[in-house]
Amino acid sequence: MITRTLKGFVKRLIKQPAKPSIRLARDVHQIDRRLVSRHAIKVCEVLQKAGYEAYVVGGAVRDLLIGIEPTDFDVATSATPEQVRPLFRRARIIGRRFRLVHVVFGSEVIETSTFRAPAEDGSPTDDHGRILRDNVFGTHEQDAARRDLTINALYYDPITEIVVDFHQGVKDLHDRQIRMIGDPETRYREDPVRMLRAVRFAVKLRADIEPATQAPIPKLAALIENVPAARVFDEMYKLLTCGHAMDCLKALRENGLHSGLLPLLDVVLEDPEGLHFIELALERTDKRVRTGKSVSPSFLYAALLWPQVNKRWQRRFQAGEHSIPALIAAADDVLNEQGETLAIQRRISSDMREIWFMQPRFERRIPKRIFALTEQPRFRAAVDFLQMRAASDEFDSVLAQWWMDLADAPISMRKEMIDALRDTQPSHSIKRRRRPRRRKPAATPTSD
Ligand code: ATP
Ligand code: MG
Repeated sequence: MITRTLKGFVKRLIKQPAKPSIRLARDVHQIDRRLVSRHAIKVCEVLQKAGYEAYVVGGAVRDLLIGIEPTDFDVATSATPEQVRPLFRRARIIGRRFRLVHVVFGSEVIETSTFRAPAEDGSPTDDHGRILRDNVFGTHEQDAARRDLTINALYYDPITEIVVDFHQGVKDLHDRQIRMIGDPETRYREDPVRMLRAVRFAVKLRADIEPATQAPIPKLAALIENVPAARVFDEMYKLLTCGHAMDCLKALRENGLHSGLLPLLDVVLEDPEGLHFIELALERTDKRVRTGKSVSPSFLYAALLWPQVNKRWQRRFQAGEHSIPALIAAADDVLNEQGETLAIQRRISSDMREIWFMQPRFERRIPKRIFALTEQPRFRAAVDFLQMRAASDEFDSVLAQWWMDLADAPISMRKEMIDALRDTQPSHSIKRRRRPRRRKPAATPTSD
């Protein structure tokens, strides 16, 4: 028993030799403190005053080091969630498997997590090595070792302005190298989502995945299938909204990370007919991300799945089904297929449906119905969507522009536009009184 424990200890020691941390001063790393959220600074200050270690960590430090303004800030600390919470006015402990504290300042949330230890030998895993539980608190050094990439294991102390680096992440960032911490194959087996992350950061940072980190990916790609669908959805959403969506999808394909794993990607990358539409959708998304605008997941997924929905809709319509029921059935088919691997939350899929189902209503401008249509919550998104259909020659561009003008117009102007339409379309707008039907005489002779 003692020998086994000793063996395990020695093995761990060999596996994780104590790393000397590199500590970089401000004149070396040159992080501009003005780009750091003052709330993240506050969280670190309060924790340090209470006697704990506290750093800004992860993506924020990586981005600060290359001069990008981070989108969100995470803090890592030696304090446990129970020690963190009472130090702030608005803080709540969240997560069951992975307990951390959300410290809330108005609309900004600083995610504050306790240093964690990497998985021990003997931690519960599935048959392929995927870790099922890893919520053991650890030291600062251990916290760095359990992170995925060297460039994501950097810590910035906003008070002393020192960057702490255990895995030469600053050098890798500088050399544009994506390197997994530890043995890459083991780390991918522990959490296959790391393969998607390696690809995403390589594209986003225009970096290379270093050979040992790259090598196991094609072989292990199929392990993504074992990851809970909600996590795959989150990671895919990050990938699609990193500002380089199409390049990321191509890189996933090159690494064998798409086929069969995510039906969405099969559909997106292997259907030449729909490709133009998808490219437009992804370009639009990239542009929004790069100009700091938000991207709604429902719009994005509605666009990515549209070529499939559209194809099936047309097929059903040509087979004689009515337009609207055919569209609803097509949408159900596609969403059900996706649902098996990609957990699209119900809230998102119902917005996607609204965007899709408004499309046939743009085909005919029926004045008395237009105003109600403009009042629908997803009207603006549906009109934006229509522009992409027009740009890929699926819809008349003049008509699409009319809807865009209407969406952009203030209410009084909308009324004018609808009235103007009424004048040019008297037959649609004037309610025709139905003439009472005369019964045909039973024995009217036919005219011929
Ligand atoms: P961004 O938010 O810009 O997409 P990020 O690196 O901050 O990038 P997050 O998903 O916010 O990514 O994760 C925060 C940090 O948590 C990462 O920088 C990394 O240190 C760690 N991390 C995230 N996912 C994993 C993972 N699957 N395995 C190990 N560490 C991870
Ligand atoms: Mg982040």
